[in-house]
Amino acid sequence: MELNWNDLKQRCLTCRACGLCETRHQVVFGVGNPQAEVLFIGEGPGENEDLQGEPFVGRAGKLLDTMLEAVGLSRKHNIYIGNMVKCRPPHNRDPLPEEQAACAHWLEEQIALISPKIVVCLGRIAAFRFISPDFKVSRQHGEFFEKDGVLYMGMFHPAAILRNPNQKPVAFVDFVKLRDKIQEICTHTELKFDE
Ligand code: SF4
Repeated sequence: MELNWNDLKQRCLTCRACGLCETRHQVVFGVGNPQAEVLFIGEGPGENEDLQGEPFVGRAGKLLDTMLEAVGLSRKHNIYIGNMVKCRPPHNRDPLPEEQAACAHWLEEQIALISPKIVVCLGRIAAFRFISPDFKVSRQHGEFFEKDGVLYMGMFHPAAILRNPNQKPVAFVDFVKLRDKIQEICTHTELKFDE
């Protein structure tokens, strides 16, 4: 497991399979515990992520961390966070279909190694890909969908919550539902409330 993960990371960090390699500062491979039972998936790196080499930093990342910590989760310990596209599209445009296609195998390999029990899709793009192309975040956030023995949940993207703070209480309920599901089905996810 350890060797495979490190090998995957090293190969990904030097990837030049699509044009985004020309403008990126860093490949944003992901962050967290690769043996976690819960995987969070976002769309792609923004400016801060590109500069720091880590997903969900900046204001949206801080909000995500605050909500995670409120239910005993943390990117340091008991979850993994990755993106569908590993390099920042210039000016934060949507990744092109060919860029998404070129990059998809990195996340697929990460998912195969992590083998999560629960996958949380942050925002509609990840939910379209992993739950359903008809997914409606506003109506279906917080619901669990089972596929091949894995539970998927779509949540509001933290950047969307920053743009519309009225969503915060509803978004927090989704984290509580996630915590309850973790306690129900995850066998080695230790929730931590002391940091
Ligand atoms: S976006 Fe993905 S496929 Fe394109 S260069 Fe970066 S890691 Fe490689």
